[in-house]
Amino acid sequence: MGNLARLRHFPLARWGRAGVFRLLVGKEGWPLQFRAPETHDHLMRLASPHIYVHLPFCQSLCPHCPYNKRRYQAELASQYGQALLREIRAFLELHPDFRWETLYFGGGTPSLTPDIIEQVIALLAPHASPAPEIGVEVHPLHGTHAALARLHSLGVTHISLGVETFHAPSLRLLARGYTPRQAEQAIDQALRQGFACVDVNLIYAIPGQPPAASIADAAKVATMGVDQISAYPLFGFEHTPLASIMARKGLKPVSDRERLRAQKGIARTCLERGWQRASVWSYIRPGVRPYTTVTRESYLGFGAGAGSLVHGHQWFNTFSIPAYIAQGERKPALVLTMPPRLRRFHWVYWRIYETRLSYRAYRQRFGREFKKDFGLLAFLMKGLGWAREEDETLILTERGAVWAHRVQAFYSLAGIDHLWRAGMAEPWPDRVVLM
Ligand code: SF4
Repeated sequence: MGNLARLRHFPLARWGRAGVFRLLVGKEGWPLQFRAPETHDHLMRLASPHIYVHLPFCQSLCPHCPYNKRRYQAELASQYGQALLREIRAFLELHPDFRWETLYFGGGTPSLTPDIIEQVIALLAPHASPAPEIGVEVHPLHGTHAALARLHSLGVTHISLGVETFHAPSLRLLARGYTPRQAEQAIDQALRQGFACVDVNLIYAIPGQPPAASIADAAKVATMGVDQISAYPLFGFEHTPLASIMARKGLKPVSDRERLRAQKGIARTCLERGWQRASVWSYIRPGVRPYTTVTRESYLGFGAGAGSLVHGHQWFNTFSIPAYIAQGERKPALVLTMPPRLRRFHWVYWRIYETRLSYRAYRQRFGREFKKDFGLLAFLMKGLGWAREEDETLILTERGAVWAHRVQAFYSLAGIDHLWRAGMAEPWPDRVVLM
């Protein structure tokens, strides 16, 4: 069996996506597209207690990386930090009574610019609710005692370590710049600091990485005592240089069968240890509260390319770092205002991703019956063995989790690939049609 995810850009796949999307969401949401906003005052008045801050600088660039990032330059990073503080200050001036609950620094490599992290936390501190959660993505090379102790002293509670794998040839292919031993030491250090949650990111289905190595990665990390494992397959985003490196080295993409072996093996490794599945991608140790940013019902993004989602409006800042630094005001580059059914479907999609969808929660959230709106979806998922129903809750099965990955490759990843590619190609695009 070949690599199914690669088929997502074929015309037939696009046609199939369109058909299923229209069936589930209806004509109103079609075509799914982001546009440059004509006015944005109404968006700037929206707030959410969940904040995402994008810090785009990296010491070196990994060839598989689809994110909005740039090689670190001290002067540019300092200008970016000033622009970021300006954007947050402009928001706070409009929202003097603002209270936030969670703050997450993603990237890029946030741990490369701890001074900016410190300044942002200091600016937002007066607006924190009691017991706020602060998460930071940390590169294993920054997993030293001094760097982690500094983050801990700033009030950081959650660490997400981008270990990716302990398989040395895969680390070299992805140009990660550290050895398996250094990755292990970074985990050790993070566990010693007393963070509320240490999450380790793992990537499987890297060309040349045997499924057994991916399964061993999960077993090792679970044994070390981390709180959460987020394991996802290497995404074949078309706008990254990895494809040409693989062609040069004669490496083939991992087949769907191998990917599945790794995915199922990782799931088994975690579940057999009594861990729970917290989402399609992540597992938590017993007694730990899952930590996630992508599934929040609303969030506010600051920084270049940062996304926000509030009351059915989703918008992105310009992805261009120079344009972000130069802009004189808070200004979204691309906006999607979801029609009501798309808004409900969006909610349903992320609850399925979290593996549990409560019909009561749907009723409370939208004042409508889930079965009336998405009965066909529930019927199909149960019929295919992807989900079971229990106490007014649709629960994803392990088989469903496997298929959720495939559906993601066809829908979300195709959409994200398109949006990020267009967003990175020009600072202020007129519109981006996702499907
Ligand atoms: S994978 Fe992480 S460290 Fe590598 S270039 Fe992307 S954001 Fe930077």
